[in-house]
Amino acid sequence: MATTLTDRLSRLVKTMRGQARITEDNVQEMMREVRMALLEADVALPVVRDFIARVKEKALGQEVVGSLNPGQVLVSVVNKELAATMGEGVADINLNAQPPAVILMAGLQGAGKTTTTGKLAKHLIEKRKKKVLTVSADVYRPAAIEQLKMVTKQAGAEWFPSEPNQKPHDIALAAIDYARRHYFDVLLVDTAGRLAIDEALMAEIRDLHATLNPVETLFVVDAMQGQDAINTAKAFKEALPLTGIVLTKLDGDSRGGAALSVRQITGAPIKFAGTSEKIDGLEVFDAQRHAGRILG
Ligand code: GDP
Repeated sequence: MATTLTDRLSRLVKTMRGQARITEDNVQEMMREVRMALLEADVALPVVRDFIARVKEKALGQEVVGSLNPGQVLVSVVNKELAATMGEGVADINLNAQPPAVILMAGLQGAGKTTTTGKLAKHLIEKRKKKVLTVSADVYRPAAIEQLKMVTKQAGAEWFPSEPNQKPHDIALAAIDYARRHYFDVLLVDTAGRLAIDEALMAEIRDLHATLNPVETLFVVDAMQGQDAINTAKAFKEALPLTGIVLTKLDGDSRGGAALSVRQITGAPIKFAGTSEKIDGLEVFDAQRHAGRILG
């Protein structure tokens, strides 16, 4: 069985007792372990490199104070930097807009957009006491529209019908008009995803963004996606001003390194984590706890 990073670092910590200052060698040795742990957790390589460079800079030459030894100081620098990178504090959904506040869901097919749209509707109804409308702009897969109808019902929200022969742009306009006339607080817009990044898809979602002027543009990403998450995140960040991330399938057995990659690439806060296939499987993202999971 693989030893955890905490175990491996503790071993190094013991060898550094009695020093008053952190040396270059100490840092090198520690960073080898941290690098390995992050790669094992599937954090993308460029993100690992960046992270290590920042920790090195912060750690080198630090005085060792009080009862701590250099190893312990280094461990604390790593933990702090990881939590800071992942985002501190709780970032809930921003609804600061003339109602209806529009939330645009973006991400690859299979990432969990439709499921998350239902979960989010439930969250906004129960926790924020909002009147919520959902609509699907996925005109390529009739099954996706039906799936949204089903999860919307489970959430206790209202579903606005759309059809495969409509244009996403027209669906958006009709839904927002309906939401205005019926005094909805929030309109959740589910969008089409492809299996891979595709220029036509990106153009379409950019147009939806311009039409809807959403207060939140959420990038939904599968925590199991691992190394590849970085490319998906880059493409969506280039196409859209993302305001938040939802990391799905955290109930899987990945160490969730994608969180660090996606957060660093987009700069957007991770707002929620998906923790099951069910309608109530959504949690506010806890950066501190997730940092522990990544490090193992
Ligand atoms: P979309 O194509 O992005 O709309 O993705 P879907 O919402 O259809 O989700 C794809 C699959 O992932 C479905 O089988 C969902 O049940 C599943 N799924 C979505 N979120 C989660 C999650 O947080 N945990 C688990 N275990 N499964 C999820």
